[in-house]
This record gives sequence, C-alpha cells and structure tokens, in this order.
Amino acid sequence: MRLKNPASLCAYASDASIYAIRPSEIIPVEFQNDVIEAILMAAKAGTSITARGAGTGLAGGALGDGIILDFGNYRKIRSIEPQLLSVHTEVGLIYDELNAALKDYNLFFPPDPSSGDSCQIGGMLANNSSGPRSVKYGLTSDFVEELEIVDSRGRLLPLKKLRLNSPELAEFLGRFPEYKAILNILQENAALINSSWPKLKKNSAGYNLYQVVRDLERGIFNLPALMAGSEGTLGIILTARLRLLPLPKELLTIRIYFKSLVAAGRAVEKILILEPSGLEIVDGSTLNLIGRQKHGIPEEAAALLLVEFDNDISLKRRDFEKLAANLDLAGVPEYADDPAQAAPLWKARKAIVPTLYRHHATRRPVALVEDVSLPPGEVPSFIEYITALFDRHNLTYGVFGHIGDGNLHLRPLFDLNDPADFRLAGEIYDQVYDKVIALGGGTTAEHADGRLRASLLKKMYGDRIYDIFVAIKKTLDPGGVFSPGSVISSEPFTAHIDYEKIKSYCAACGKCNGYCPAYDLFRREDMSARGWLRMINQSEAPREVLQDYLAWCLNCKNCTTVCPAGVDIAHEIIEYKSRQSGWMARQGASLADNEFLLGLSLKFGKILEPLTQSRATRKILGIVGKPFGLDENFPLPKIAGRSLRQRFSHRLAPTGEVAFFHGCADNLLQSNVGEAVFEVFEYYRIPLSIPEQKCCGLPYEVHGLKDSLLEKASFNIEHLNRFEAVITGCASCLLRLKEYAGLFKGTSTEKPAAILAAKCYDISQYLNLKGIDLSGLAGDKPVKITYHNPCHLRAAGLHREPEKLLGKLPGVEIIHPLYADRCCAQAGAYGFAHYPQSRQMFAAKKTVYEKINADYLMTSCPACQMKVRAEIKGNTRVVHPVEIIAERIKSAPGFRPGKE
Ligand SMILES: Cc1cc2nc3c(=O)[nH]c(=O)nc-3n(C[C@H](O)[C@H](O)[C@H](O)COP(=O)(O)OP(=O)(O)OC[C@H]3O[C@@H](n4cnc5c(N)ncnc54)[C@H](O)[C@@H]3O)c2cc1C
Ligand code: SF4
Ligand code: SF4
Repeated sequence: MRLKNPASLCAYASDASIYAIRPSEIIPVEFQNDVIEAILMAAKAGTSITARGAGTGLAGGALGDGIILDFGNYRKIRSIEPQLLSVHTEVGLIYDELNAALKDYNLFFPPDPSSGDSCQIGGMLANNSSGPRSVKYGLTSDFVEELEIVDSRGRLLPLKKLRLNSPELAEFLGRFPEYKAILNILQENAALINSSWPKLKKNSAGYNLYQVVRDLERGIFNLPALMAGSEGTLGIILTARLRLLPLPKELLTIRIYFKSLVAAGRAVEKILILEPSGLEIVDGSTLNLIGRQKHGIPEEAAALLLVEFDNDISLKRRDFEKLAANLDLAGVPEYADDPAQAAPLWKARKAIVPTLYRHHATRRPVALVEDVSLPPGEVPSFIEYITALFDRHNLTYGVFGHIGDGNLHLRPLFDLNDPADFRLAGEIYDQVYDKVIALGGGTTAEHADGRLRASLLKKMYGDRIYDIFVAIKKTLDPGGVFSPGSVISSEPFTAHIDYEKIKSYCAACGKCNGYCPAYDLFRREDMSARGWLRMINQSEAPREVLQDYLAWCLNCKNCTTVCPAGVDIAHEIIEYKSRQSGWMARQGASLADNEFLLGLSLKFGKILEPLTQSRATRKILGIVGKPFGLDENFPLPKIAGRSLRQRFSHRLAPTGEVAFFHGCADNLLQSNVGEAVFEVFEYYRIPLSIPEQKCCGLPYEVHGLKDSLLEKASFNIEHLNRFEAVITGCASCLLRLKEYAGLFKGTSTEKPAAILAAKCYDISQYLNLKGIDLSGLAGDKPVKITYHNPCHLRAAGLHREPEKLLGKLPGVEIIHPLYADRCCAQAGAYGFAHYPQSRQMFAAKKTVYEKINADYLMTSCPACQMKVRAEIKGNTRVVHPVEIIAERIKSAPGFRPGKE
C-alpha cells in the first residue's frame, strides 16, 4: 500500500516535535520486502527514506520530505524464550504491548520511556531511549542482543555482537566491507573516543560510539549498539532480539521534600548507594507553578524527590528511614507500597505537563532544551543557574527529571509566533546548551538529536569526534538517503518549525494515539486521534475526503480522557462533522423524533424479529444495508415487547427525590437493568421515579445533528432539574448529561446545565455515595466477577465505582482483567456499521475474558453489554452491576417482590 492522499500526507507531516515536513508518500510496512523495495526505489528516484515509529519523538527525527516508512503494522512478536531471557520482535510493537505480552512469563523489557504507552520498539532503538527506571537498569542499547536491518543499498543484514578475530566476524566483514571500514575507524580512534567522551549515565547525542569502543576493548564488535541511537540515519531496523529481566514483584514509592536544592543534591548521592529503581526531582519554582496548597506541598520546600525501590522493599525502607533521619527535610517522608497509595505521591509530578500546557493563552512549553544530561554531581548547581536564567527573563517554566542519572527536563514557555519570544527562545537555546556543555554534560539524555540538536553536535563533541560521525554516516549511507536533516546536518534548529501547530494547545505528543481504538486497529497516523486533529486543523483536503477518515472515529473519548493538555479531539471531530450532516442521518433523526412512527417501527420490528434471525433475511439485510455500512453478521439488538416506561408507568413522576434516566436502550430494548434498579432502590428505601426525558442526544450528536442535540438537551435540563439527583445505568447518557453545559456557553441555559451536571450519577457511584450496606446479601456460593470499564464512564471521571461497590458483596472475588479500559468497539451503532473491524478491535479483550471465565462480567453501559455478550463464549453472564445486587436481594431471606 502507498498513501499519497493530501489528507494522509498532512497527518504524516508532523510528529511530537515543533516541526512539520510534508512527505512525498507513505509506505505502511507489512513485509521486509516493502522496506527493501522502498530503499531501492528511493535511491533510483533520488528521494529520501525516513523511518517512522509512533511519531512521539520530540526532535523531528520521524519527519522527511521523501518516503516515510511507517512501522505501525510491523509488530509481531516472533518468539519469547523465557529460559534465555530473550524476545525476538518486529520493531513496530508498542513498548507497553511488549511488556504486556512478557507479563505472562514474569519478564519485562526494562528501558521505560514515559511515552511507553504509545512509542514503538523501533523508535526506542533508534533514539536509544530510556526512562525513570534507567537509573537502575540502563538504556535500550544495554538490552539489544541482535538486530536485523536493511542498509542503504537495500541489503538485509543481521547485526550481532561478534568476537574480534572470530570466523563469524571475518565472514560478516567479508560480505559487508563497509563495516570493516567502520571497525577500522573505531579502532584507530578508540583512545580519542575514550578520553573525550562526556562521562554521563545517559547520552543520546550523536552516534553511540563510546559503548562500541568499550566493547571493542573487551574483544567484541557490538554491531547492534552501533545502530542503537543512530536515529534511522545509518540503516532501517526491522527486528530486534532483546534481553529481558525477571519482573520485579514489589514497589516502594517514597516522596520527600527538601529545604534547599543543595540538600537535595547531597541526598541524591546517598540515596543512589541504596540502588533505587527510580529517582525523580521537581524543583521549587515548578512546585509553585502547580500550586503548593492544591498538592499539599510544604511552603518551605525547595525541591521534591520521588524515590522508588523495586526489590527487598522492607529492607530498603529500613535503610532509607535511617538515611532520612539525617537529612534536612521539609516535612516527613511519605511511603507507599501499593499502586493505589503510590498514585497520590506521583500526583504533583504528573500535574506539571498539563499545568504548563494550559498556563498561558499563547505561550507553550515547546521542546527546545527539554532533555539535558549532566554529571549527577552538577545537577543542583545547574538547576540554580537555570532557574535564575529563566527568572531573569520572566519566563514561566517547569524543571524536573530523572536526577538519579543526571537527566533534567527543562520546559520554559515561549510563543514562537511572537518575534520577541522567538528571539529569546534562540538565546535561551544557546545559553542552556553552552552551560550544559561547559559542565561536561550532553545536549540530550534520551530524546536524541533529530533536527532539533543536530547543529549542536560539533560544539558538544569537538571537530575530531564530529568528523568520525560524518565518516560513519558516509560509509554506511554514502548517498545520504536516510533521514537527511537528522543528526548529521548543518541546518539551524529553526528550519521547518510548524508555527501553526505550535499555536495549538495540542502538544502533538501522540499519547492519544496509544488509546485510540481506530489507531489500535489501523496503526496509521492518518487513522488516529492525533492525525485526525491535524487533518481537521491543517489539511486542505475536501470535506468529503475528511468525512471518510473521520467516519472511523468511535467517539469513545479515550483521546480526551488521557490527553495531558486537556484537548478534546472527540469534540473537535464531532464539531467538524456537525457542519454537514448526511441525508440518511437526518431521515433517521426525524423517524426517531416522531413518537408515533417510532412506536410503529418498533412494533413492526418486534413482529419481524424471529424472521430477522433467519440466514436468508440476514443476507437480504446485509445487501440492503451495505451502502450504509451494515453487515449481515452483526448481532441485532432485541426489541422489548413493552417499553420500560410502559412497564413501570406507576413510577412516572414530574418531580421527586431521585430520577432514573433510563436512556433509549434500557427503555426500548430487552434489558433487565430497569427492573434491577427499582429492586435495589426499593430494598434500600431510596425513592426513585422515572422523569419526563428525551434521548440524551449523543446519537444525534455523532451524526452531526446539532440542532436535535440542543433541543433534547434543553428538554432534559428542564425536566431533570426538578429532581434532587439523577441516576443512570448508561455510561454514555451520563457523560452526555454531564457535558450539556458546554453546549450552552454564554447563554441562560449554561447555569441550569451545570447544576444538572453536578447532580447526575452513575448508579454504582450513587450507591457508593449513599454507603449502602451490602454485607447482608450473601449468595449461595462464592462468585468471580470481572468487568469492562466503559470509555464514557472513564471520560466522566469514574474509574473504579462498580468494582468498589460489588467488592463489598460477601463471597465475591473481583478479577481485574488486562485491557479493562480498552474500548469494546460497539460505540452505539459503530459496531453494526463497521462490524468486522469492531470485532477485530475487541479481539484482545475477548481472549482475556474467555481465559478468566468468570461467573459475571459487569459493565455499566447497554451498548457495551450487547457487544460483550455477542462476543464472548463460555458461562460468563454479562450484566449491569446493579443486576448482581438485585439477584442477591431476591435470594435474601424475607424478600418480597415489587410490582412492575
Ligand atoms: C510525552 C513524551 C514523553 C517522552 N518521554 C520519554 C522518555 O521518558 N524517555 C525517552 O527516551 N523518550 C521519551 N520521549 C521521546 C520519544 O517518545 C522516544 O524517543 C520514543 O522512543 C520514540 O519512539 P517512536 O516510536 O515514537 O519513534 P518516532 O518518533 O516515530 O521516531 C524516532 C526516531 O526513530 C527512527 N525510527 C523509528 N523507527 C525506526 C526503524 N524501524 N528503523 C530505524 N529508525 C527508526 C525515526 O526515523 C526517528 O529518527 C517522550 C516523548 C513524549 C512526547
Ligand atoms: S490531543 Fe493531547 S494527547 Fe493527543 S497529541 Fe495532542 S496533546 Fe497529545
Ligand atoms: S474518540 Fe476514540 S476513536 Fe475517536 S479519535 Fe478519540 S480515541 Fe480515537
């Protein structure tokens, strides 16, 4: 496949850096031949080749004006060999996916970039990535055993660690003489490289020659280490054999505050002796920025340290307590040895990036000096220098990072569209890097040079080492086909800045892609949350073309939920769609709005229901529905004989204490949720009524029918506000009700909409708040309950309410499944319209649930229930959480059934 459509090219023109370059075409890699052919084609046409992983690189390395090789779909794990602590994988695999697969073997791949939920193994290898745990475990290059690459002549090469003087090396060098030339260059310059290389724990600047030279001294030509950190400029990596370690079983997190930076610096040296698996710092000015009061940070704290130990934690805690008794601390250390307790300790650290992104109308924490590496002893004085420099220029900034290995992230805010700020950014760039180099540091610890820091290499290493870099590049890529502009380049860092992109609140970090079900399926930037946002804002593609791409969005809101900068891509997509709704959507809406016609259609549908299950009818339905994207195999929802409102007409009330917003699915389709809700509320004597209500409006919204949405929202705001609280069993309805206020900004309806938002609850959340006592509801046997977390419940800020509630039932074991937060891919009618793709999106969850084989799988959304029910085989019953409680109530002594 080759993508040349302007909309696709627009998506691929950007990555997480400040740059944009429009490529000539994209080749999504599926087979190794795709790479070989692309390189031969590029050489012939005189165009460039740039490899792209997930595009989370901050230095623009994944951008190029020629062919982009997208590795997203080249992601099979070829083998896991637990006895050898080894994995062989294709490089498009996402870091977290690799570790999820290794978990079954109690193994893990340690280098852990913070972008691990979205970045790929290929990008990690090419940038020699690392992360918070590198203080204990080291960098990606320390774990690479073998690589398979394609070189600039289109040849496939196995790169291994080969002993000098071995027949294997002789044979390799005979076949690939350019590597003989490389070996000569390195051996001739070994002394120079050894003596002049900065002595740092982390260094991603330039080629990784120090490690290779050190291994040469041990008699090994470490060819994979030469490729690690080469940023796609020396060869294209296809597969990697990586070394693994046993998964640590425990984790101790400690948060401490210091009265001075110097005290923090001195403490770091002592803490390092205890071999922590993580050691992070946040400086005092950054603590001011995120809000001391809000995060409970002592006024006198000049720095915060987060320390982690992942082995022998009781022993480490004892040692740490002894050490802490002699430190000059502000406040007492806080300890956490389980993830739930540790999360609040990380809260202040994690608040930095979101705070910086939303801090100013036009200034952004652009990645310019974001990844410096220092000899650890120099860190405190460097922080003092840098904060004074930033303060002198009245800059707002964040200073934080992995102090254990001397890696600091500096994020001053600039508006590069403002000429004065642009000039200042250039000055700060020069001054920061000059200082770092003067202190014996490195311009980049883990994010690599790319286009951002290529021009600094000569300054950092000096002419002689730089000439070695150039010689290596010329030997392995004589035609300069790979990633021109990256690493070896004299272009200034200001070339190719995308001034439009950096105006946006979106940092283009790509985190949203890691959670986007469409990206998960297609693994292409033009089929992803970030790509779509860029296409909407910056592509000039015709509306019909963009609509075809955007039709794949599930409106799951996962992008919104995880975005550190608070960008609501799902909303942007809906807004774009709503500028032009389709004819079919408008006809569907007028049918649904006409009570008489809707009732008639449902009656008719009910009569025809047995017929619709027949193979022949399904075939006809498939043919008729094909133009609308319907598939003959999709599971049809079953229509209720009588609606919930008809069955519980005695509960209809215009006003009252608690209103049950049943939504359309639980009203019109076969469902036990309504009965169960009334059962439970009656048992706990909570008055519950059914209010006047209309559809929450979400189905209208996703089809671009904004007028219908507004009309329904106004109706619901007025009628639901007549109750003290509103509960719903549908996650999507809950989210839509809670977000009405955004639709009425600046109008008289905004306030009532906000009032409604504050009193809307998910049923489990409401019952948790009420503190209902479930201890008397013993079942007749122990049960296992697993769950699926609906995306819209998480988007509404609710993460663990059903598990919290059901965990209180006697005899219940809650089994936390892998991928609990992954979209089930039903998303209203999406699962019908894109049936095969929706099934593929669900496949990973299906395997997990079938393996767990629990008694119940609970989920608080009718659409999710329908999807999961249709997919999973076995004895697991798919229910709403409230149904499980209702069943226990029914079997409780003295139970009297209520009336329908
Ligand atoms: C919010 C955020 C946090 C981050 N945190 C960290 C961190 O903690 N530690 C860290 O090290 N980095 C971090 N990064 C930077 C980045 O995520 C990493 O460098 C990551 O490893 C890049 O992977 P990718 O798949 O996105 O690669 P891309 O950005 O797509 O590419 C990066 C480089 O790798 C090359 N490349 C990709 N695939 C191949 C291949 N198959 N063969 C040859 N070259 C290839 C590209 O040409 C490019 O030069 C962060 C970035 C963001 C946005
Ligand atoms: S929308 Fe948010 S998560 Fe997605 S790229 Fe932009 S800043 Fe990152
Ligand atoms: S709403 Fe879901 S499918 Fe749509 S862009 Fe966001 S994450 Fe992707």
